[in-house]
Amino acid sequence: MPRSFNFSAGPSVLPVAALERAQRELLDWAGTGTSVMEASHRGKDYEAVHNEAISLMKELIGLPDNYQVLFLQGGASQQFAVVPMNFLSPGQTADYINTGTWAKKAIAEAKLFGTVNVAWGGDKGNATQIPKQADLSLTPGARYVHVTSNNTIEGTQFHAFPDTKGVPIVCDMSSDFLWAPFDPKPFALIYAGAQKNIGPAGVTAVIIRNDLLETAKTDIPTIFKYGTHAKENSLYNTPPCFAIYMVRNVLAVVKETGGLSAMKAYNEKKAGMIYETIDAKPDFFRSPVDRDARSMMNIVFRLPSEELEEKFVAEGKKLKMMGLKGHRSVGGIRVSVYNSCPMEAAEAVTSFMKEFAKAN
Ligand SMILES: *Cc1c(COP(=O)(O)O)cnc(C)c1O
Repeated sequence: MPRSFNFSAGPSVLPVAALERAQRELLDWAGTGTSVMEASHRGKDYEAVHNEAISLMKELIGLPDNYQVLFLQGGASQQFAVVPMNFLSPGQTADYINTGTWAKKAIAEAKLFGTVNVAWGGDKGNATQIPKQADLSLTPGARYVHVTSNNTIEGTQFHAFPDTKGVPIVCDMSSDFLWAPFDPKPFALIYAGAQKNIGPAGVTAVIIRNDLLETAKTDIPTIFKYGTHAKENSLYNTPPCFAIYMVRNVLAVVKETGGLSAMKAYNEKKAGMIYETIDAKPDFFRSPVDRDARSMMNIVFRLPSEELEEKFVAEGKKLKMMGLKGHRSVGGIRVSVYNSCPMEAAEAVTSFMKEFAKAN
């Protein structure tokens, strides 16, 4: 098998079946004698793929009818700006929970449009914990509350979402979107760059509730209005057709595998065996985050020295394990075990960790 064990944080591993389908269909897709990359986004063949990607996402989540699924460009980083551009005006306050690097970037953009209350985590962002309800200083009547469900760099994850007393929740789910079943109803807007858990880079999934959409500002550029894309079924301008096609392929695999509850069991098993390995050798492996804040997607840990961390990454590479190095801002080791990361990869890295600890 020429495939590596891919633990990259993003872009990240995709299901072999989704890649093979793309390979099979590359020269002649749906009997068109062309690839999806070469076809008009106004054609009925592309439209079928586009709508299938949307309906698969709705079906997997169990999304109520008062939500729309959009496929946008510019990454999750663009959403940091587009959310307040649509929903925050001078004199209004939005609450942001600062759980780390990505949340901080979202905060910086929101400050350009209105008042930001950092409801938890301070200016720096809390890198090792996830707040409990009582820890939050929420603003009554805030425009929205922004949450980062999984902190890709720090390795923390919300396992219960805040009760915002009716204030709309906006959630950056980039690195744990569809990792497990969830109740969409508390969320007014969800966004997720595809390249972590549901596809390749180039498309960002947005789920928006109609009541929030109706309150969007109108004095902003057409291309940045959620309403533009909602009205045109994300076909206002040329969408990233191939990326959306790949999202379709990935979601079809997720559905075949048993949907989000099967995903959850699979992900918990993978993450569980790696955390167990960390906990079994506390004098060698150290998890820097609170136990109840641990991410099921990005598992971050330290070794006794930076030299050993470098050695771990280098030896892993020889075993065809890629992407083990922690984010450049925090160092250490990061093992990303997204939906599409196979069980064999989690097993391989746990055996490697055990052997490495013994030998060093
Ligand atoms: C990767 C990531 C982003 C940034 O995504 P881009 O698509 O590169 O803009 C934002 N938020 C989270 C939680 C991420 O993991």
